[in-house]
Amino acid sequence: MDQSSTRLLPPETPRDFGFFLDGAYVPAGDREVFLRNSPGHGTPVTRIPKCTTEDLDATVAAARAAFEDRRWSGLSGADRAAVLLKTADILEARTDEIAYWETLENGKPISQSRGEVGGCVSIFRYAAGVARTLHGDSFNNLGDKMFGLVTREPIGVVGLITPWNFPFLILCERVPFILASGCTMVTKPSEVTSATTLILGEILKEAGLPDGCYNVVTGSGSTIGQALTEHMDVDMLSFTGSTAVGRSCLQAAGSNFKKLGLELGGKNPQIVFADSDLEDAADGVAFGIGFNTGQCCVSGARLIVEASIADTFSEMVAAKLKNARVGDPLDEATQIGAITTDAQNDTILGYIAKGREEGAKVVTGGAALDIGQGQYIAPTVFSNVTPDMAIARDEIFGPVLTVMPFETLDEAITIANDTIYGLAASVWTKNIDKALTVTRRVRAGRFWVNTTLSGGPELPIGGFKQSGWGREAGVYGVEEYTQIKSVHIELGKRDPWVE
Ligand code: NAD
Repeated sequence: MDQSSTRLLPPETPRDFGFFLDGAYVPAGDREVFLRNSPGHGTPVTRIPKCTTEDLDATVAAARAAFEDRRWSGLSGADRAAVLLKTADILEARTDEIAYWETLENGKPISQSRGEVGGCVSIFRYAAGVARTLHGDSFNNLGDKMFGLVTREPIGVVGLITPWNFPFLILCERVPFILASGCTMVTKPSEVTSATTLILGEILKEAGLPDGCYNVVTGSGSTIGQALTEHMDVDMLSFTGSTAVGRSCLQAAGSNFKKLGLELGGKNPQIVFADSDLEDAADGVAFGIGFNTGQCCVSGARLIVEASIADTFSEMVAAKLKNARVGDPLDEATQIGAITTDAQNDTILGYIAKGREEGAKVVTGGAALDIGQGQYIAPTVFSNVTPDMAIARDEIFGPVLTVMPFETLDEAITIANDTIYGLAASVWTKNIDKALTVTRRVRAGRFWVNTTLSGGPELPIGGFKQSGWGREAGVYGVEEYTQIKSVHIELGKRDPWVE
C-alpha cells in the first residue's frame, strides 16, 4: 500500500511484539510488558516484553553458538554481501510499514521516517561492498626468511544498545557493519522504541541471515541494558546514548574487558560568518535545530555568529522556525513532530524556564504547543546567552537554540571548543581560509561546511572528548568490529637455537 496517498491514523489497538531469539519471535507470555503510547497521539500503539536476565542469557548463548560454529563468519564476504543486499531490497519494499511504526513510537514526521528507512537501505547496500573488501595486510620487508601477515577477524559476539531518537537509523548505521565483519549480535533497543528493531529480525531472516546471528532482547536500560554491558560472554559493546550512561558502561564493561564503542552526547556549534550566504545559513541553522525536534546527538544547538550580523541573522533563523510546520507526525505535511518521551518533554520545558530565569531573551518559541493531542514544543531561539548558562552548556536534546556572538575567528573557535563534548560542528562562510581554519581547530568528530546534518555511510561517525570512543560506519566503522592478528611465517631452514 502506498501510504503517502492515504491519511494515516494510529492503530485502534496496540500491536504485540515478541523479542527475537535464534531466528524466531518469542511472545511475552507471562512476562511483564511495556505499553507504549504514541507521543503524537497519546494512544497505546505497541506492547513489548520486559525480558528477564534468563532471556538475555539465551540471546547471548544463541549469538555465541552462531559465532563459534562459523555459520556466518565462515562465509565468504561475497555470501555475506548477498544477504545484506537482499535485506536492503526487503527494507525498500517494506519502507512504509517500518516508517509507520517508527513514527508511532518516536513521534517523528512520517515523511522523515520514510526518508530514514531509505537511508538505511543505502547503508545496507554500502556495507555489502565493505563485506567484500575487508582485508588485512602483508609485510614483505622482513628479510628473505620471514613473511608477515596481518589478518582481520571478527571480534565475536557484539552487544548493541541504541537510543530512542533514531531507533531504526542508528540501528542500521551499526547492524550491517557488524554483520559485514562476520560478528553475531544481541541488540537492546530503547524500551520506548523497540518495534522497528524487532521487525528487522524477520527481515534479516527472510534475506538469508542464519538463525542466531541477530537477536533482540527488550527491556529497560537499568536492568537488561546494564546486564548486557556486564555480560561475560559478550566480546564488544557498541553503546549509543547519553554521556552519563556511557560512563556507567565504561565501568560495567570492565567485567570481562570487552571492547567498547561509545557514541554519546553533543552540544554542537553552528559557526556563522558574515560573509556566508545568509539565506542558506539561516535555513541550515533552522534545520539543524528543528530536525527531529532537536532530539539529535548532532543537532546544531549553539549558534555562534559574527557580531555584526547577530541580531539580523537570529531574526532570520527565528522566521524560518516560525514557518516550520509542527504537528501530527502522521500528517504528510508535518516537518516537526512530537517530543518522544514525557521525561524529555519535561526536561526541555525545564531548560526553557531556566534560560528565562538566567536572563536569556526568547527570540521565538519558548512554550509548549497545544495541538489537541500528544506533546509538542515550539522551536525556541534564545539570545543574550552567556557561556556559564545551563542552556549554553548542557545537552538539552530539544528544539532550543542559543545565540552567542563573536568578533574574531579565534574567538569563534574558543567559544565552539568551550564544551565537554566534541561530536559535530558546522561552519558557514564563503571564505575557504576561514572554513578550513575552523574545521581544523574545532575539536569535533564530524564537520559540515556550508551544510549540516548531511552525509552517507561512506563517512564515519563518532566523537571527540566526552562524545565517545571509536567510529561507526564507513570502512573505519567496520574495522571497529574486527581485531587483527599478526602472523609470522618463517621460510626455509631454521637457524638452530641449540646445535
Ligand atoms: P540513554 O543513555 O538514556 O539510553 C540509551 C540506551 O541505553 C537505551 O537503550 C537505554 O535503555 C539504555 N540504558 C539506559 N541505562 C543503561 C544502563 N545503565 N546500562 C546499559 N544501558 C542502559 O539515552 P537516550 O535518552 O535513549 O538517548 C538520548 C541520548 O543519546 C542523548 O544524550 C544523545 O546525544 C545520545 N545519542 C548519541 C548519538 C551519537 O551517535 N553520538 C546518537 C543518538 C543519541
